Amino acid sequence: MTSADAPRNAAADSLALAARAGIHRLQIPTPFLVGRVNCYLIDDEPLTLIDTGPNSGTSLDELELALGRHGRAIEDLELIVITHQHIDHLGLMEILARRSGAEVAALDLLTPYLERFRAGAAADDDFAQTVMRRHGVPEDMITVLGSVGAAFRAFGCSGHVARELRDGDMLELRDRKLQVLHRPGHSPSDTIFWDEQRRILFAGDHLLAHISSNPLISRPLRAAEGSSPTRPRALIDYIESMRATRELPAELVLPGHGDPIVDHVSLIDERFKMHQRRARKMLGLLASGPQTAYEIALTMWGNIAVTQTYLTLSEVVGHMDLLAADGRVREVEQGELVRFEAIA
Ligand SMILES: [Zn+2]
Repeated sequence: MTSADAPRNAAADSLALAARAGIHRLQIPTPFLVGRVNCYLIDDEPLTLIDTGPNSGTSLDELELALGRHGRAIEDLELIVITHQHIDHLGLMEILARRSGAEVAALDLLTPYLERFRAGAAADDDFAQTVMRRHGVPEDMITVLGSVGAAFRAFGCSGHVARELRDGDMLELRDRKLQVLHRPGHSPSDTIFWDEQRRILFAGDHLLAHISSNPLISRPLRAAEGSSPTRPRALIDYIESMRATRELPAELVLPGHGDPIVDHVSLIDERFKMHQRRARKMLGLLASGPQTAYEIALTMWGNIAVTQTYLTLSEVVGHMDLLAADGRVREVEQGELVRFEAIA
């Protein structure tokens, strides 16, 4: 055995531990850069699937094969649980529910979005365009991204949510109880499911082992309270959510992509340090004068792939929010454009 085998073996051990608890990881392909998405089959009553994969023939075929390897068919599913609003996690929801008669369960905040997915996703794209314009992304890039967004919508779907879950609710299966915990940050609807007895956490994209979960600037799902709707502070929300998750005595975290996580406290601490480092680096870049988030992103990452533009923009704005909260940076509005300025 070489040291390179160690992480793989650790993952195999963790997946074996999950399997003994009746939990099976099904890795479903997506057409997105992130690669495969993890769905989890829970062999319990009701027979439960956490997340579905995107709405595509390939994903459906592979999901069917994966269920078959555990002696199950789509028609056997009784409950479908959705962890958050992104299409790689929910796209097959409607097809699976129709074929199996399974009930769909999701956070109450997410229900209206799932029931009118296309309208919600189109509003998300409009919101993203406004954010990009404000933060200096060139107009031609915004146009290209608009058509990418419209094409991606085909991988989602709308569906009826029969079981609305509230933050703190207990989702009871025959052999286990899963506590529903709202952990916004990566998306406004991120929901994690905590099996306190087994110390197993279903984390969706709230925590991922090999890549940091991008705190995307997302359109708020609830109308902002008060008179002026403010831009959500996704990274600040995300850090607060991670702080809460850090307190859970989890032994095994099952994420929405990649391998299981066995030491979530170290992982979260690493993420905290990374965000501090990144914020410091970006603050340094402002020494030469006020800049837009897009200009900062270009200096940080050089030539950015078009599809990664929004993600990197979210990263920059998130760290500017952190610095602003510390009194290190302020926003300067110049017409339609926002620049960030270091406070001396
Ligand atoms: Zn995902």
